[in-house]
Order: sequence, then structure tokens, then C-alpha cells
Amino acid sequence: MRLSQMLFVTLRDDPADAEIPSHKLLLRAGYIRRIGSGVYAYLPLMWRVLQKISQIVREEMNATGAQECLLPQLQPSDLWQESGRWDTYTKAEGIMFSLIDRREQQLGLGPTHEEVITAIARDMIRSYRQLPQHLYQIQTKFRDEIRPRFGLMRGREFIMKDGYSFHTDEDSLKQTYQDMYQAYSNMLRRSGLAFRPVEADSGAIGGSGSTEFMVLAEAGEDEVLYTDDGKYAANVEKAVSLPADAEISQFTTFEKRETPGTETIETVCKFLNASPTQVVKNVLYQTVYDNGLTVLVLVSIRGDQEVNEVKLQNELTKLAPNYSAKTILTLTVPSAETQQIWAAKSLPLGYIAPDIADDYIASNKQIHPKFVRLVDQTAVELKNFITGANESGYHVVGANWGEQFQLATSVVDIRKARPGDRAQHDPQQILKSARGIEVGHIFQLGTKYSQSMGATYTNEQGEEKPLVMGCYGVGVSRLAQSAVEQSYDKDGIIWPVAIAPYQAIVTIPNVNDAQQVEIAEKLYTDLNKSGVETLLDDRNERAGVKFKDADLIGIPYRIVTGRAINNGKVEVVERATRNSQEIPIEEVVTTLKQWIKTATEINH
Ligand code: ATP
Ligand code: MG
Repeated sequence: MRLSQMLFVTLRDDPADAEIPSHKLLLRAGYIRRIGSGVYAYLPLMWRVLQKISQIVREEMNATGAQECLLPQLQPSDLWQESGRWDTYTKAEGIMFSLIDRREQQLGLGPTHEEVITAIARDMIRSYRQLPQHLYQIQTKFRDEIRPRFGLMRGREFIMKDGYSFHTDEDSLKQTYQDMYQAYSNMLRRSGLAFRPVEADSGAIGGSGSTEFMVLAEAGEDEVLYTDDGKYAANVEKAVSLPADAEISQFTTFEKRETPGTETIETVCKFLNASPTQVVKNVLYQTVYDNGLTVLVLVSIRGDQEVNEVKLQNELTKLAPNYSAKTILTLTVPSAETQQIWAAKSLPLGYIAPDIADDYIASNKQIHPKFVRLVDQTAVELKNFITGANESGYHVVGANWGEQFQLATSVVDIRKARPGDRAQHDPQQILKSARGIEVGHIFQLGTKYSQSMGATYTNEQGEEKPLVMGCYGVGVSRLAQSAVEQSYDKDGIIWPVAIAPYQAIVTIPNVNDAQQVEIAEKLYTDLNKSGVETLLDDRNERAGVKFKDADLIGIPYRIVTGRAINNGKVEVVERATRNSQEIPIEEVVTTLKQWIKTATEINH
């Protein structure tokens, strides 16, 4: 491609609405253009990058025996009613765009395809002899994200590879899951990214686990906790650890103490000259289930620890059947205003004990009359602890479970693991923290969708069983931008060779110099003929402008037909290292082919 003929416009200044380097650079270098909130045009350079990534993804998927297909983006609401996700996706989470067609039929724009694929499996899979099966597609997804941001990182329209597998049993699922783990690792390695697979939260679906593939970058929205021995890495949402040891309490007898103005852990500890590890802190939450019922939740946890709201949400989702509900719509810390709606009398905030009376909850059909009391393991282990006295300005000290306080039936892990904590697998290992961009997620689904949608098969014994499912997603467009986030410098993008839109750019410093032009034209033709994807900067611009643009768009190798041509040579500059050397013109094609081969094969 000739730059003189390309729709190629670069910006000198950072666009105002871009916050992170990769977003700024993709806009400045003319890869993407914002069309609306979370909606971008992929311009020709970007489209080449996306196709290269898609091709790597495709090759790795095909190598596992998965079959490519293309599923509809317009999805009838009936399917989502069957799986029970229509209301959650269109109303509660509101992530699905929905519409009504001229026949008054309701449709959603596919944010994901479990329903569609399960409907197909239900129709087509009858017998264990047809299993396992694995179908995937590479396609635009639509999600009405609350906060679209960072360009392609969190768009409302983006490209995803999603795959779905069907099995007779968990063992077969695990086999495919392992294959996907390997395939995903291969895709990211081949794309030239530094990444880490981490244990992930699989939400309330449960299943036997899920892994996220995190591209390591400061701008990542996710926090990863890991140990240096390489044996543990998890999303902070899911991570577990050993908390620091609690200090031994000096309060050996139970007493109520006046502790004025000590609503926080810090102030009460200062007042009583105690450690937060001796305190049972009681945190109020309010959750609304999908049937509209509000349930108040009291979480008791050790004073120096924090609640992991993802773990809490999972525990509360497990309890949904107790309230004739399926799932949770919201989980919040009740504000002063919302407390007024359900509190029968004013709460002793900051002084609440694990046994605060249920009569604080006003009687109302929409509100469950009792607190759900959850106790974190860290609080259960405490002896002679400090906690609220259910009276403003007072705490109790020297309290014990089974004496002053009944232990709630639900002892759970709802504690947030933190960097600096000791690892569970080896207490010598200390958890460290890194930021990551989630580019892929593989998931053992189990029978959630096959059961709700009635997708069954007949096993060898002639019994009808629900299909066991897995699902596997890679954000192709997010991956592309993550590569930039991991690889740039002050002058622009540095594409990994395997996914660069073009591998080489021939720059003519002076288009009025016939010899420069002639040599450049020949190199351009020869390189492309021999399979090196090459741009020609034949614009009538100053050399400085051309060099700046080549750096900005990040093409791995720049060939300059400058002064060296007098010696039968051209200057070849490697974008990543800025190493520059003069190479005889007739050796350029073979040299570049060799470099490109080496650069991509390292990761292959
Ligand atoms: P996130 O936690 O970032 O919201 P998710 O868990 O909802 O993502 P999945 O449903 O697992 O994502 O989708 C598979 C992959 O699709 C993700 O790993 C990510 O790479 C990509 N992806 C998800 N949402 C977006 C988005 N809004 N924009 C771009 N890529 C996305
Ligand atoms: Mg996710």
C-alpha cells in the first residue's frame, strides 16, 4: 500500500478524551476513530491487525479440533426467557441491547451466545456418540456497558472469539478446558504479549472453575495476586490467602465499656489500646433479589480485614432459593437514605454487634424480616474479642462465640486477600500484586444452560442426561489494544511483528530524487512479492514528518532510501530497538525475511 493513496491522517496532539497510552496512540496514529460512546470504526491499519490476531486465534482453535461457525447476532428473547437470563440481561444488569421488531417480536443483540448454541445443541445432539463437540465463531458482540472507556478496551461493540463445547461428562469437559488453556496460552504468546493465566471468579454459576488470561499492564482494570514461585495467581475477586496472625486479646473477662466517638475500627482500637485483629467488625449490606425482595445482610469479619464483595455476592446468590429467587439484582452498603426505608428505628451505626436484633427491620412485604448473618472465618477464630454493644457509644470486650454470641450457621470465606498476605499453598510465599487486562476467559459451565433449556443426550445406558458444557472467550479487539498498552515508547506504537499491520515500510526521504524513488519502488515491489507486507511512504512530505509517522504507527522495520544508496545500500531501522544498519540493496529482501521469521518463530 502507498501512503499517498491511503486514508492516512495522523494527529500530533493527544486527543482530549483518551486517558491511557494505547487509546491515545491508536487514535493519533489513525487506527481507530470514535463514532459514538464505546463505538469505534476500525480503519484499514487496525483491520489488518485485527485480522492477524483473528488468524492466530483461528489457527490455534482449529488445531484443537474446534469447528468455526457464525451464529446470529439478532437473538429472539424467547431463548433468553428459557435460560432465565432475559430480565437479568435487559433489566437488572442492563447489558443487553434489546429491540422490538415490526412483528412485535422482542429481540436482543448478542452480548454472548450460550442460549443460541444451546438451542442448536438441543436440536442436533441426540447421542453420546456425537460427543464431544466444540463450535466457535469470531464476531462482533454488543454490550451496553455502563462505563465504556479506554477505546477498544471496553467498547459497546467489540470483536470476540467465543466457543462453546458439549460433553458427556466432567472428565471430557476438563480435557477440552485443558486444550483451551494451552490454545489460549499459544495465542497470546504468538501475539507477542506478556500474560498470566489466573484463577478467576466463576460467579454464582459455580462449575469447577475458570481461568482468566491477563495481559500484564499498569492500565489494567483487574488486580492479580500471585506468588514468585509461580504456583499461585488469581484475580483478587477470587484470591485466597492466610491473614496475618491475630494478636492475643488482653481482655479476659466480658465487659461492656463506654467508648464514646469510636464509630470506626481505628478509633475504637486507639481508645481501647487494642489491635484491629482483636475486633469483630460487623458490616451491613443490602441486597435485592430478582423477585424484588430486599434482604439485609450482616457480615462479621475481623477488624483488620475487608469484605470481598464478589465472594459475598456469590454466597448471597447461593441463598437465593431460600427466598424463592434465582439471582441477585443489586448488592450495596445501605446509605442513610436507604436505611430510612427499611429501618424500624435508628441503628447504632459503628456499634453494631453480630446479634443485632431483627426488630430493627420494619415490617414490609418487600423486605425480609430477618438479617442474614454471615461470619467470615477470620472472625470465627477470635477469642476474647471486641465488638459493638448494639448501643451508640458502647462496645463490649472479652466476648466469645458460643458464650455471648451465637455463631451464625453460615461460616464463609468472604475476605479480600491482599498483597503482603501469606499464600495458602506455602506460607513462606508472600502474595504480590500486579495489574492486568483480561483478554480471555475460559470457563467450565457444567449443566446450567443445558438444564434450564432442556438440552440432553442419551448415554450408553440409554439414559437421558443434560449436556455438560464449557465456554471460552477471547476479546480480539481488546487484545489488539492490549498489545499497544504493553509496547510503545514516547514516539509511538511498537507492534509485535506477528500482529503488526505491515511488517515493513519503505520511506523515500525526497520524492523529487528520481534515484531514491526508483530504488524504493523496486524494494517495495520485491518485498511485497516475496511475502513481506510492506508500505511505501511516497508522500510529498519532509523526511522528518515521514520518520515521525513511521515511528507513530509502529511498523517493525523501516527502510530508508537515503544517502546510503550512493554506496548501493539502504538504511534499515528496527522500530523496537532503534538499531540502524546499512544493508546492500540486493540483500534487503532476504535479510528482512530472515528477521521476520526469527521474530515470529521465537513465539511460535
Ligand atoms: P469484563 O470482566 O472485562 O467486563 P467479561 O468478564 O464480561 O469482561 P466475557 O464475557 O468473559 O467478559 O468475555 C470474553 C472476553 O471478551 C473478555 O475476556 C474480554 O477480553 C472481552 N470483552 C468483554 N467485554 C468487552 C468489552 N466491553 N469490550 C471489549 N472487549 C470485551
Ligand atoms: Mg470476566
